[in-house]
Amino acid sequence: MKYANTVLDLIGGTPLVKLNHVTDGIAATVLVKVEYLNPGGSSKDRIAVNIIDAAERDGLLKPGGTIVEPTSGNTGVGLALVAQQRGYRCVFVLPDKVGEDKRNVLTAYGAEVVVTPTSVAPDDPESYYSVSDRLAREIPGAFKPDQYSNPNGPRSHYESTGPEIWADTDGRITHFVAGVGTGGTISGTGRYLKEASAGAVTIVGADPEGSVYSGGTGRPYLVEGVGEDFWPTAYDPGVVDEIVAVSDQESFDMTLRLAREEGLLVGGSSGLAVAAALRMARDLPEDAVVVALLPDGGRGYLGKIFSDRWMRSYGFAQLSDERSVADVVG
Ligand code: PMP
Repeated sequence: MKYANTVLDLIGGTPLVKLNHVTDGIAATVLVKVEYLNPGGSSKDRIAVNIIDAAERDGLLKPGGTIVEPTSGNTGVGLALVAQQRGYRCVFVLPDKVGEDKRNVLTAYGAEVVVTPTSVAPDDPESYYSVSDRLAREIPGAFKPDQYSNPNGPRSHYESTGPEIWADTDGRITHFVAGVGTGGTISGTGRYLKEASAGAVTIVGADPEGSVYSGGTGRPYLVEGVGEDFWPTAYDPGVVDEIVAVSDQESFDMTLRLAREEGLLVGGSSGLAVAAALRMARDLPEDAVVVALLPDGGRGYLGKIFSDRWMRSYGFAQLSDERSVADVVG
């Protein structure tokens, strides 16, 4: 019989898929790593299992303990999955820009959710960083993974994402592109790929315009899960060769095209990463192999990027060609 012992055994081992339609005019091979095929639906499943394993080992998390974390949703799902299987309680703190669907996913897994305002400074007592710190202090037996500074986040990508990409490309990858949020994905994966290739792989960070990684001040942008208004320690700038800034419009356009033309229903940070990857690939020769990481799926954004009304309300053009029956019948 072929089966996984628990759903946790399905984390990682995600496939690479070649892009064939959004790559017009590009000679290089552009591959995407499809992280929504993780059981919790994102790359964050990888860090969740690593962080909880380490916390148990270090005695920071004991039976009956509570996990408290500020998260845009995906890390919460990963942590909720692992916590549920191992008998821990979870309390997640989310900024209010995170869609309701994402929130409901967390509660579906049995986690508790606290929502905080997006439009306050990180040091404001109402910010999601401050609220989660307070809860971690006040709840007995609480453990705060702190994905922004926990070295087991980048380590999980060093131990799994990097080796998977290196093996699946037979060591032929020349460029790795990932959106930067905590910086864990790019730092861990990038470090592995640099070591494996003796420095030959170029590591490219994709960042929303306005975020600090591309020289911004933290000005608001709408793509979720990427960009920061401070410098997390999970981010290792020494690994990153280049940062490409991408606008919300360009990220969302590419997100819609990935669904429509490549059959990949993914989130806005995936559109951001692919937009950056294609911009780079345009100047590369035929033998270049560019790998972009797609962190999560698009189902959490149906009421946003994939909603005509939402896109128009923020002034974005939509690729929609919704028609009435009368238009089609003539
Ligand atoms: N995209 C999404 C949707 C995310 O949730 C995250 C994690 N914050 C990222 C990209 C960025 O990954 P990392 O935190 O490893 O930089």
